[in-house]
Amino acid sequence: MSELDVPERARVVVIGGGIIGCSVAYHLAHRGCDVVLLERDKLTSGTTWHAAGLMVTFGSTSETSTELRKYSCDLYARLEAETGQATGFRRTGFIEVASDPDRLEEYRRVSAFNRYLGIDVHEISPGQVKELFPLANVDDVLAGFYVREDGRADPVDVTMALAKGARMKGAKLYEGVPVTGITKKRGAVTGVTTPRGNIEAEFVVNCAGMWARQLGEQHGVNIPNQAAEHDYLITEKIPELDRNWPVLEDPGSFVYFREEVGGLMIGLFEPICAPWKVGGIPEDFSFGTLAPDWERMGPYVEKAMQRVPISMEVGVRKFFCGPESFTPDLKPILGEAPELRNYFVAAGLNSIGILTGGGIGRLMAHWILEGRPDMDVTQFNIDRLHSYQSNPAYRRARTVESLGMVYQCHYPTRSLSTARGAKKSPFHDRLAALGAYFRDVSGWEGADWYAGAGQTPAVELSWKKQGWFSHWEAEHRAAREGVILMDMSFMSKFLVVGRDAGAKLDWLSGGAVDGAVGQITYTQWLNEGGKLEADLTVTKLDDERFWVVASDTAHRHVETWMRRHFGDAHAFVTDVTSGYAQLNVQGPRSRELLQSVTSVDLSNDAFPFRCAKEIDLELARALCIRITYLGELGYELYIPAEQATHVYDRLIAAGEAFGLRHAGLKALASLRMEKGYRDYGHDIDNTDTLLEAGLGFAADLKKPRGFLGKEAVLAQKARGPLKKRLVQVRLTDPEPLLFHAEVVRRDGKPVGYVRAASYGWTLGGAVGLAMVEADEPIDQKWLDAGRWEVDVAAKLVPAVASLRPMYDPENKKIKG
Ligand SMILES: Cc1cc2nc3c(=O)[nH]c(=O)nc-3n(C[C@H](O)[C@H](O)[C@H](O)COP(=O)(O)OP(=O)(O)OC[C@H]3O[C@@H](n4cnc5c(N)ncnc54)[C@H](O)[C@@H]3O)c2cc1C
Repeated sequence: MSELDVPERARVVVIGGGIIGCSVAYHLAHRGCDVVLLERDKLTSGTTWHAAGLMVTFGSTSETSTELRKYSCDLYARLEAETGQATGFRRTGFIEVASDPDRLEEYRRVSAFNRYLGIDVHEISPGQVKELFPLANVDDVLAGFYVREDGRADPVDVTMALAKGARMKGAKLYEGVPVTGITKKRGAVTGVTTPRGNIEAEFVVNCAGMWARQLGEQHGVNIPNQAAEHDYLITEKIPELDRNWPVLEDPGSFVYFREEVGGLMIGLFEPICAPWKVGGIPEDFSFGTLAPDWERMGPYVEKAMQRVPISMEVGVRKFFCGPESFTPDLKPILGEAPELRNYFVAAGLNSIGILTGGGIGRLMAHWILEGRPDMDVTQFNIDRLHSYQSNPAYRRARTVESLGMVYQCHYPTRSLSTARGAKKSPFHDRLAALGAYFRDVSGWEGADWYAGAGQTPAVELSWKKQGWFSHWEAEHRAAREGVILMDMSFMSKFLVVGRDAGAKLDWLSGGAVDGAVGQITYTQWLNEGGKLEADLTVTKLDDERFWVVASDTAHRHVETWMRRHFGDAHAFVTDVTSGYAQLNVQGPRSRELLQSVTSVDLSNDAFPFRCAKEIDLELARALCIRITYLGELGYELYIPAEQATHVYDRLIAAGEAFGLRHAGLKALASLRMEKGYRDYGHDIDNTDTLLEAGLGFAADLKKPRGFLGKEAVLAQKARGPLKKRLVQVRLTDPEPLLFHAEVVRRDGKPVGYVRAASYGWTLGGAVGLAMVEADEPIDQKWLDAGRWEVDVAAKLVPAVASLRPMYDPENKKIKG
């Protein structure tokens, strides 16, 4: 083999030598894996070389993102000792300032959560901000949030240290070797092709940064990331500036500041940004810069400079603009491609690739070598994304909004406003006429609540109760007391057929799903480690026909899980999401209403809870399933798309006599939260076991064929009472609101945080599901013996905690 040749074989080939590729290679090598990294040009020549290198652990309400940040800081702090290569990592400190009440509320909420995860963040006064960063103008500042341990790193040096550390553990890194294609066999990747020869590999990892999408497209893998312009200025030297001052961030003015060779680096996250090269990133773009757009950026720069007024007096030495890639939801794209086994992706870092790069490398190495991730990846998994999001028009529209979202106030009711209208249910225009407020539900226009016929729904963004809450409350109460209709067409629906379909689905499901024909089963799918992979329903339509329904976010995960586990069996999956609209008719009067439009007997004896039958509805036929996700008597109707509006119109006409009301997703959230029903990817995820999630009741440990993950469930049972459990919490004061990530305390000690929350209009206060951990067994006695509080924006609000649902714990409503 000549020096120019690449090896013929490696266990893993990593594509791309930016910080992400080098970190993945470093962590694989550290686990003893035979790894080759191929870089098209020079290491760091893509985006990494020009990053600002802010190392800021404060600010995220995602546990995974926070842990990735913490790990990266720790790693960069020790890399020099390990490799002899400096990283430029310095703990200069970090301050985020809040200059309006809403941001103050946000940062107070975030601080409690971040502190719970071990970040030493302190709220400081404007005067203290001034002491730490004397050149800042703090006249309008309400408070600062200070982390002494945060700081900065040199992105090139960190990457070189990771590369060196990888080599020291046996990894082979090649520069000037572009990957031109891949080889594959029977749906799995088998290697890469390069101008210097092909490499066989068990795994390939696409870490090609802003090139990742077009590279993936060549082999049918969907990676919808898109580059956008990203700017910073560097001023002339400022003698008063001290290089040891903290990084100062002022999202309200779209800006961060840090020292750079004696001057100030002024970095911007403008609210309306500019996608770059939607048609494709040039293959030869290396160490590239873009011409700064003064006209577009000028007003933002002016506003930004007011925070540190001296910056307006000194000259600008450099106005830098470079591309960074962004994703549709501002979350990175990680994991195994649903389209191709053993092909992994780690790309689309949304401007925090340096900050999270260390952690992402560790996570990916674990995921690749162990077969599953050891952190909650439900928000990050590549399989959450859909192919239409790679359309040029989608990327062009959405990317205008994404970069700016980083510094927006993260109001809980904010919905992305670009690239909208891509997916509409057949009822969309009818719901719009009723004043529906639509939000983005995995690309669908989902009706959140209704302002009323002819009304334009108006949303004020706020952390407090808002005007439209009265509509939400009325919809919630109608579901509890009368009857409501909900458009749920965005749910993922699959028809699974074949001689082996029943046995295969039964093996995947904790519950017994292959029993009587015409029965729905609420069940979970587990992996071998007993952790949750999906939470869904399976309905047996016939001996060889099954109806599988999961939430919108789980669409491709569930589909891929089935396909991969069915293998060559006689079991075939068809995605019928687009073919069927879904209407949920729910509430104590739902039976009366439905009975008035069908000839099928819906009485409790003839159509009991969990029953599924095709029924006539005027001129249409629909699959009707008696099940509920909100805790009342209710039915789900799956209607062929072409008959959907016919059924809808008939139900509306008949519904008048029963006081039928439309209800939106806000009501669904509050109703299901009162009943303690789980939502995968929100309050339960791939790090939880069936038992910790409180879903042991849904598994049938005695079914003859067993199920995937059963051994792990049994092993956990054998270990004794649980010390980690999902607990329902409710605030006893009706005023404060819970959204997500609020820290829960027992007898003054933080024991967990709220994974998801809503407002319990029937229970009379905010209610959420919190994962609680303790040194002792968690049971109702232990919950009752404690004094419970939730930290809501730095105020401790008294709460009650329960393992049983606070609403209708006996299930009397749903079976009546
Ligand atoms: C102005 C600016 C400021 C920033 N500031 C910060 C900050 O303060 N903190 C922070 O965390 N992040 C920051 N970022 C973001 C950060 O730079 C990125 O998130 C990070 O560098 C992305 O790393 P990557 O490895 O994914 O991509 P890249 O660095 O682009 O690496 C991808 C590599 O893949 C190679 N490649 C592409 N195609 C092929 C192929 N076919 N074969 C082989 N190799 C290939 C490319 O040559 C490239 O080297 C900033 C970005 C910008 C633009």
